[in-house]
Amino acid sequence: MKVTEYIKKAEKTLFSFEILPPLKGQSLSNLLEGIAPLMEFKPPFIDVTYHREEYIYKKHANGLLEKVATRKRPGTVGICAAIMNRFKVDAVPHLLCGGFSKEETENALIDLYFIGVENVLALRGDAPKTEASFVPHKDGHRYASDLVGQIVGMNHGRYLNDETEVGFRTDFCVGVAGYPEKHFEAPSLNFDLKKLQAKVDAGASYIVTQMFFDNKKFFAFVEKVREMGIDIPIIPGLKPITTLSQIVNLPKIFYLDLPDDLLAGLEKCKNNADVKELGIEWAIQQSKELVAYGVPTLHYYTMSRADATYRVAKEVF
Ligand code: FAD
Repeated sequence: MKVTEYIKKAEKTLFSFEILPPLKGQSLSNLLEGIAPLMEFKPPFIDVTYHREEYIYKKHANGLLEKVATRKRPGTVGICAAIMNRFKVDAVPHLLCGGFSKEETENALIDLYFIGVENVLALRGDAPKTEASFVPHKDGHRYASDLVGQIVGMNHGRYLNDETEVGFRTDFCVGVAGYPEKHFEAPSLNFDLKKLQAKVDAGASYIVTQMFFDNKKFFAFVEKVREMGIDIPIIPGLKPITTLSQIVNLPKIFYLDLPDDLLAGLEKCKNNADVKELGIEWAIQQSKELVAYGVPTLHYYTMSRADATYRVAKEVF
């Protein structure tokens, strides 16, 4: 079923979460066992992230270095099939512009539709660590709005190199990313919101936000989005902080602020165990306030580790 249909039918706030495919060479069973406890909260859908290629330099006998593309976390399509089969819930694969040609995207979408996937989250992706800024694939898309356009085109029977004939119509529900604290490359929040509008105009049906720790920022974001006339569901993304290193890394990686009162508490923590307790408590309070505000779904970034999210959900759902 479509994410938007779940939301329409729901009588209360839904619980959903995101997982990462395991690293290449690792088994899927650990991941599936790890997330099994979260099924208690009846998630209607589970997101599966996608990961573009990264580069390694292979040294040859003659001393020359060869740049080789490698995918550290392959398998998003297969994991979606495994999740749907094992837990009987919908899987929402993320699809990226970066690192993929339009043809690869078309083929992935055909495969996803064949296995029964009805929702996708359309994203641009980031530059690989070895590159300073995002460069689109030479036959790919530059912005997520273009990717949304391709997916929606297939919903209308439009395939690449087949402009004249109407093909089989897929029926994907397309989600896109939103940034309550603005995307790091955008010169202003208003600029970023106009680009969010472009994704909606291209056919996106719902928005999932980047994680945030200050609900006031989310409420202000929703207000601005609604003022623009965008009325599709906005799903907040949440993550319980669990380690000391995340206090530095989350703001650095995701370009977000930690509120002063959370920081004051975190600064008093002596070890990861203290941080985890505080992070879980903060996420519980954040979640409860968001439920009272009337969000359609609380979406947790589990990073494939279920225990902190489980404890939050136990208090909230
Ligand atoms: P876009 O919407 O294309 O925006 C990117 C930037 O370009 C923004 O600054 C925007 O303001 C600007 N922009 C957009 N359109 C235009 C235009 N026409 N002209 C000029 N500027 C423009 N990354 C992964 O690699 N894998 C994942 O699975 C993944 N999942 C994610 C899930 C969520 C919910 C979120 C919030 C992010 C996720 N990301 C993932 C990270 C995401 O790929 C990055 O944040 C990326 O930098 C931006 O993606 P986007 O889809 O928001 O891009």
